[in-house]
Amino acid sequence: MPSAFFDSMVSLIVQTSTDLPPDVRAAMAAARAQEPSATQSAQALTIIAENIDLAAADEGAICQDTGMPTFEVKTPVGANQIVMKQQIRAAIAEATKRGKLRPNSVDSITGENSGDNVGPGTPVIHFEQWENDDEIEVKLILKGGGCENVNAQYSLPSELPNLGRADRSLDGVRKCILHAVWNAQGKGCAPGAVGVAIGGDRTSGYMAAKEQLFRTLDDLNPDPRLAELEASIMGEVNRLGIGTMGFGGRVSLIGCKIATLNRLPASFFVSVAYNCWAFRRLGVVLDAGSGEIRRWLYRDPAIPAVAMADQAGFQRTGREVALQTPLTEDQVRSLKVGDVVLLSGRAYTGRDAVHHHLMKHEPPVDLRGAALYHCGPVVAKDGAGWKVTAAGPTTSIREEPYQADVIKRYGVRAVIGKGGMGARTLAALKEAGAVYLNAIGGAAQFYARTIRSVEGVSLMEFGTPEAMWHLTVENFPAIVTMDSHGNSLHQDVEQESARELAGIGA
Ligand code: SF4
Repeated sequence: MPSAFFDSMVSLIVQTSTDLPPDVRAAMAAARAQEPSATQSAQALTIIAENIDLAAADEGAICQDTGMPTFEVKTPVGANQIVMKQQIRAAIAEATKRGKLRPNSVDSITGENSGDNVGPGTPVIHFEQWENDDEIEVKLILKGGGCENVNAQYSLPSELPNLGRADRSLDGVRKCILHAVWNAQGKGCAPGAVGVAIGGDRTSGYMAAKEQLFRTLDDLNPDPRLAELEASIMGEVNRLGIGTMGFGGRVSLIGCKIATLNRLPASFFVSVAYNCWAFRRLGVVLDAGSGEIRRWLYRDPAIPAVAMADQAGFQRTGREVALQTPLTEDQVRSLKVGDVVLLSGRAYTGRDAVHHHLMKHEPPVDLRGAALYHCGPVVAKDGAGWKVTAAGPTTSIREEPYQADVIKRYGVRAVIGKGGMGARTLAALKEAGAVYLNAIGGAAQFYARTIRSVEGVSLMEFGTPEAMWHLTVENFPAIVTMDSHGNSLHQDVEQESARELAGIGA
């Protein structure tokens, strides 16, 4: 086995996790140019731009959810794929140890975290042979859970909400893609990109859809029918008004890439793989003899990346309110949708395992007046203590079955997350006097810098991302998107975009 293969894989993983490729940077810069300043989408894009720069400069994870590592490897005939697989798994463990990947691989039944991102099914590695004796190609995508959860698969013909019947035709495919993007709203950290497969079976369709995400955003589909469909989707979908994070805005999608597979006559699947703006995809071509990197794919290291953020800074949109925890009911009830909160003081992280735990057990800390942050941070040991190195919000809707009870039982005053929550939580905010603050999904470096210290941790038995971390934050910015008066920006955008969808689909 080439001796440098392991080191090359570590470099690929670290660079993929910390530095977005030029085509994604260009698409996000274009999105930013299209959103009028002083809108919530523009604010979010400003934070995202700063986050991209911070991650690249400090080699920190762009998003704390470093996703499911998926490798596509092309090898010369006869190359030892068994050893290569072992070394890729070892490189994943090494990148995790260095804090470039969050420990993300858990036992599906017990929830126990393997701690090193290696386990049955993780990472995903696909091998293919090619007629090139001299080189190995490795491409990697890190796709997070928030966007993975909004993937969709349709079996045509089908009746789609707001769009009517989707037939077994390109127009039916078009309706499926529009529906998938509308349904995702901000939950997959819009603006995203979709990979689409028409045909195949349920398994090969999803695989082919994800493979489309290895194409660059600015390429042209060689099939003119699909090229036309991709272009028309990009035009139509951005009329939905979903915007960055689902805040409402002009750009909802930065790419649409479509492939076809043959299918059984009885089946017609349309599979849609949604990738968030934190579109981490890179590749390398290695010398097959030494394993050293000959060249990078998707980027040219000789051309330095242009900074994403400008000097204009954060454009204010609404009322800006500095708050210190613990929060009072009066403070929270004075907040309205659109206000920007700069939060300081104690915030506790809590996501799936913590919420589930709180249904049957008292909290390990006093949550009265507290801010509960839906976040699974990347945390590194720092002497006797801890240091958070990446800490953006996770998708809040997963906690919808629990959140209302947690708010009412324990007196939580602020829930911080992304993508918004549902009717039960909205009612609980009103009843108990609490607020939902939308932080910018994927902005893990930006938010890590608002964390002054880690005061402690509870429920560590759930693993690092799922534990309850006790954080002291300073001027943590987030937008009120659900208030205690029954208002929800998410509900408004969803309804307005549904009307647009119906118009486009007709
Ligand atoms: S940007 Fe959002 S969807 Fe993407 S990995 Fe991060 S949290 Fe998940």
